[in-house]
Amino acid sequence: MDEIDCAVIGGGVVGLAVGRALALAGREVLVLESEGAIGTGTSSRNSEVIHAGIYYPQGSLKAKLCVEGKHLLYDYAAERGVPHRRCGKFIVATSPEQAEQLEAIRAKAAANGVDDLELLTAQQAIALEPQLHCVAALNSPSTGIVDSHAFMLSLLGDLENAGGMLALKSPVSRAECTGGAIVLIAEDGTALRCRSVVNAAGLGAPALARHFEGLPASSVPEEYFAKGNYFTLSGRAPFGRLVYPVPEPGGLGVHLTIDLGDQAKFGPDVQWVESADDLVVDPRRGDAFYAEVRKYWPGLPDGALIAGYAGMRPKISGPGEPAADFMIDGPASHGVPGLVNLFGIESPGLTSSLAIGRHVAGLLAQA
Ligand SMILES: Cc1cc2nc3c(=O)[nH]c(=O)nc-3n(C[C@H](O)[C@H](O)[C@H](O)COP(=O)(O)OP(=O)(O)OC[C@H]3O[C@@H](n4cnc5c(N)ncnc54)[C@H](O)[C@@H]3O)c2cc1C
Repeated sequence: MDEIDCAVIGGGVVGLAVGRALALAGREVLVLESEGAIGTGTSSRNSEVIHAGIYYPQGSLKAKLCVEGKHLLYDYAAERGVPHRRCGKFIVATSPEQAEQLEAIRAKAAANGVDDLELLTAQQAIALEPQLHCVAALNSPSTGIVDSHAFMLSLLGDLENAGGMLALKSPVSRAECTGGAIVLIAEDGTALRCRSVVNAAGLGAPALARHFEGLPASSVPEEYFAKGNYFTLSGRAPFGRLVYPVPEPGGLGVHLTIDLGDQAKFGPDVQWVESADDLVVDPRRGDAFYAEVRKYWPGLPDGALIAGYAGMRPKISGPGEPAADFMIDGPASHGVPGLVNLFGIESPGLTSSLAIGRHVAGLLAQA
């Protein structure tokens, strides 16, 4: 049987960041990816926003790893020439009731270590973004955007330079965690004996973990899928910054993001679905976007929104439940030596990826 020190299941941004961190720590690493290329899952279907870390509950992994990951990502992107832009973001209040919430958002962000949010009057905000309608706004200068594909290629380069390897078209179907080491079994029956295994299979991570013999069933959460549909704007982006309404219960509201090519898109909305493969965008969902967007951009022309793409959130809490934290479980949580499972790595997983890599390498160093 072939043997390896560490296997990472999944070649998305998180699996690559974890593999890189382990390889840089001197471990022998193999990343196993079921598809024919890296990053074709959720890592290719997101907003590419470097989140500041504003909304997450204080003390949560999301808050901690987002803020740490944001700093690591800006430094990394600058050093490696990964295209990115610290474009900033406005959170806009379009009614006096919403304006009252801005101070609470600022306080929550400060508790997470994000202390650069600035309250703006309508006049100050509109001076910076003339097409905006609002009664007040919060400016988040540390929010930005990044080319996620260039980032993932750079992570892969680091992994390989540090002696790590990537195996494409290598779906893992189960594992045996009963005999001191972890034996991974590929779909074609090939077995690989590993000292450490990181399950970074994204949407498929809980289903895969249920096939890990020796892992207590109670340590695997139920999975739910929440699709996020995007509608792209035909024509020029009206703003130079990202624009988010004040969040409403259940979501961040229909917001505008821009990419590095200055293409604007609205979304993602939240649509709970049964299957992780349900990625087709129903153009009729765009109808509901117009009224929401016009609250902060009255100039949105009729017919300007075009069905774009969708991404799938790997949820571990269901509709109506409070959003779950990232679940990053090492041996101390589930009792299997050498195993780390990553569940529910939804947004801000891209922003947090370098910090997640560091965190997982730390968990395995203690194992
Ligand atoms: C709509 C949406 C918008 C988002 N926007 C942002 C944002 O703006 N900023 C931000 O920070 N985060 C954002 N996120 C979150 C971010 O995209 C994810 O957290 C991140 O991409 C997760 O990466 P991953 O590597 O865990 O998962 P994935 O990218 O899904 O990678 C998992 C990989 O595992 C492989 N795999 C699965 N099963 C197996 C198996 N059995 N064997 C081998 N390989 C397997 C898959 O093929 C896949 O390549 C967004 C997410 C969504 C859904």
